Order: sequence, then structure tokens, then C-alpha cells
Amino acid sequence: MTAATARIIWLVFIVLYFILRVNPQRLARKTPVKFSAWDRREFILLGISLTGLGILPAVYCITQFPQFADYAFSPVQGYLGLAACVATLWMFHRTHRDLGLNWSKSLELRERHTLVTTGIYAYVRHPMYASFWLMAVAQVLILPNWIAGPAGLIGFGTLFFGRLHREETMMIEAFGDEYRAYMRRTARVIPWIY
Ligand code: SAH
Repeated sequence: MTAATARIIWLVFIVLYFILRVNPQRLARKTPVKFSAWDRREFILLGISLTGLGILPAVYCITQFPQFADYAFSPVQGYLGLAACVATLWMFHRTHRDLGLNWSKSLELRERHTLVTTGIYAYVRHPMYASFWLMAVAQVLILPNWIAGPAGLIGFGTLFFGRLHREETMMIEAFGDEYRAYMRRTARVIPWIY
């Protein structure tokens, strides 16, 4: 694998990712919201994440900017990155299937929100965020650039640590002891570890 092939793989991956989001987005627009925590803070956090995981790597793949931060590409790194991309897409698809109409891109509760604790949600309580961490790792591996590579870790990390507490507080307020018990038996993103 060459660095140019790796950049094409990343672009294809981003397109596939957006295709997987089309249907959930469409359904989400039709499902009434009971409570929304959408505010300036959420807007900024989502913007930072989108910049790090989407905009910067896409600009790099298309224009090779910022080329001064490139380092030598190793094909092993590229293949590991490709494997991480495939795993990300699979996890992402699974989380959408299990979360169903309860999904939203921000912090929201639907009119008929149900607490999902089965499927991939039986292993960790934030599998979709776990898939974004995996995507950020794939980005580091597949893009041999000191800026475009780690941008996803920084961008998504900011959203993750800036949002998680609020999301869990919202879920406790909505589901009380049921969510507390779920928290006790599951880790956040890495089974049994964190
Ligand atoms: N943090 C989860 C979901 C991300 S989508 C994950 O990483 O998989 C964000 C929305 O999902 C939140 O607005 C919240 O309402 C909803 N949500 C989070 N965990 C949930 C669960 N276990 N069951 C149902 N809805 C959940």
C-alpha cells in the first residue's frame, strides 16, 4: 500500500460512513423530541469533532495540505488502518441498528425513548463513541501526517470528554435506577476497563 492509496481509502471510508448515516438521520428527523440539551456548548463540541475527524483529514487527502507535517508511510501502518476502518464501519452499523429511533447527533430524549441495554449496548454503554475512538485511531494509522493524523483523536476526544458526563446525567434523570444499574454492570467504551 502507498500513501496515495491510503488517502483514497480514507476518502472512501468517509463516504461509506456518511451513507450509513443517511437512514438514521432521516428517521431521526421524523421522531418527535421530548427534551433537547442542544446549546452553544454542544454546537462547539460537535464543530471541533467534525473538524478533527472529518474536515482536516478530508482536506489533507484531497490537497495534501499540510505537507510539511508528512512523515514516511509504512504499508503495515496502512493495513492496520484499513482493518480499523472496516471495524469502525461494522461497529457504527451495529450501534445504529441497536439504538434505533433513540439515536440523535446531540443530547436528546425522544417522545417514546427506551433505554437500550442489549446487543452491542450489553458490552459497553457508549459503543457509538467507542466506534469514533476507533475511527480516530484508524485516522492516525492511515494518514502519515503529524497534524491530519492525530486531529481526530483531539477533535473527538474534546467532544467525548466534554459531553459524556452531561449525557449520563441526562440518562439518569430520564431512567433513574435502571440507568444506574446499567452503569454498574457496563464500562463506558472498553469492556471491563473504562
Ligand atoms: N452514547 C451512546 C449514544 C450516542 S447517540 C453511544 O455512544 O452509543 C446520543 C443519544 O443517544 C443521546 O442523546 C441519548 O439520548 C441516547 N442514548 C445514549 N445511550 C442510550 C441508551 N443506552 N439507550 C437509549 N438511548 C441512549
